Amino acid sequence: MATAKQADVVVLGAGPAGYVAAIRLAQLGKKVTVIDRDVVGGVCLNRGCIPSKALIYAGTMYEKFSHMEEMGITVKGASLNMKKMIEWKGTVVKKLTGGVAGLLKANGCEMIAGDAKFTGPKVLEIKTKTETIALSFNQCIVAVGSRPTRLPGFEIDHESILDSTSALEQTTLPETLLCIGGGYIGLELGTFYAKVGTKVTVVEAGPGLLGGVDPELSAVVKKKLEGRGVELKIGVGVKSQTQTKKGVEVTFADGTKGTYEKVLVTIGRTPNSDGIGLEKTGVKIDAKGFIVVDPARRTNVPHLYAIGDIAGQPLLAHKGSKEGIVAAEAIAGKKTVFDVLGMPAVIFTDPEIATVGLTDTEAKAKGFTTQIGRFPFAANGRALSVAEPDGFVKMIGDAKTGRLLGVHIVGAEASNLIAEATLAIEMGAQVSDLALTVHAHPTLPETLMEAAEATLGHAIHIFQKKPTAGASPAAHA
Ligand SMILES: Cc1cc2nc3c(=O)[nH]c(=O)nc-3n(C[C@H](O)[C@H](O)[C@H](O)COP(=O)(O)OP(=O)(O)OC[C@H]3O[C@@H](n4cnc5c(N)ncnc54)[C@H](O)[C@@H]3O)c2cc1C
Repeated sequence: MATAKQADVVVLGAGPAGYVAAIRLAQLGKKVTVIDRDVVGGVCLNRGCIPSKALIYAGTMYEKFSHMEEMGITVKGASLNMKKMIEWKGTVVKKLTGGVAGLLKANGCEMIAGDAKFTGPKVLEIKTKTETIALSFNQCIVAVGSRPTRLPGFEIDHESILDSTSALEQTTLPETLLCIGGGYIGLELGTFYAKVGTKVTVVEAGPGLLGGVDPELSAVVKKKLEGRGVELKIGVGVKSQTQTKKGVEVTFADGTKGTYEKVLVTIGRTPNSDGIGLEKTGVKIDAKGFIVVDPARRTNVPHLYAIGDIAGQPLLAHKGSKEGIVAAEAIAGKKTVFDVLGMPAVIFTDPEIATVGLTDTEAKAKGFTTQIGRFPFAANGRALSVAEPDGFVKMIGDAKTGRLLGVHIVGAEASNLIAEATLAIEMGAQVSDLALTVHAHPTLPETLMEAAEATLGHAIHIFQKKPTAGASPAAHA
């Protein structure tokens, strides 16, 4: 017999979407109940953004220490202790999840640890370790996130066939690793393993790595991966696998075979909309399993909202957090919509890729006449002095109005550089605004200023031919 309880606003799922929504609801005076079956922080803090970036950083440090002779530094005896690295990563995760739990508590949110599913439009059944609760509520934000997509024939055993979660928990270094899927998760994890000494192969069935990213940018990452000895099999799928004494023998769609100690499957993410009783609520779900929402992140059932991965692309933590704030404010009666102009996306490969706004192709498809400027890291003093000459900034402007439409960066610290471009796009800046802003020297953000100058036809640190009469890209400057 379930214990009956009553709540006002329920947040189902305490990932970066749900916990942010809960805190904002509490700030707005709402009585909030948060339900999660796992440690708070969701995929992002526990088995996604944070642990992967911690390991990627550690891998970069290890690789750097092993290759500093050019600068006159020889590090003798640099060695790798995977067990310790994984433990250190765990401490980072623990600090952050502990911090979030503390914040939820300090904001007066009631926490229920358990597995929940809807048994009606306004009732959740929660199975905790000790009891079953029937929780009635007035409003609910669904923030149940997503999970790795399974590949038939390559069942995850977390031993020899891994998903992204188990790839972050390996305490011994595999000699060989096959990454199935050349999207951002596969390439980030593949780069980490390549940096710490695993022989990595990436197989991607599509026409190129990092689908959706401007191929000019992904080409830089591809070249560096190849330089690091990563084997790339592009345009080839996998067919089947058998476990042998030597490892996992994989047959590729072109008939070739390879044997690997471990195989990592990263072919996408599946929304967790199944098995939580959504059919009892009447909420609309699209063909891919995402909950359909309006600009305030309200579903077709007025007292139910959905945010984060479960509410659709892009499946990024900061997109979910922003949606959490919007949904919380909507529930608190504020006039609000999710109307983000610049949604940044970062890929923590080497070098990093970071983008915001439209690509040239997208801008043209929307009817813009574009002007494009590029500025290479190799012409930036800071990039050279930190031994990071690879990459460039590509800027897309509207030739008619001069408005900044998109910024695409491949290079060191792209993850940090994109913030300036995001603010510029969000504020409706002109390309010339970035060019006119004085940037401290010597710094990597100067590449943004110079890319803006290049878009206008007059970058200082690269040679640009004078525009021909009548074709001045700087007409609005
Ligand atoms: C390896 C990896 C690296 C990533 N790196 C980045 C990155 O660098 N930057 C970035 O922006 N994004 C990154 N992501 C994506 C990011 O993790 C997700 O976009 C983000 O976690 C989604 O947040 P969310 O709150 O919507 O859902 P989730 O984080 O998935 O959280 C959902 C929560 O709901 C709970 N839950 C689900 N169902 C139930 C239920 N029935 N009952 C109770 N609780 C339930 C879960 O336990 C979980 O805590 C990465 C993902 C992976 C896998």
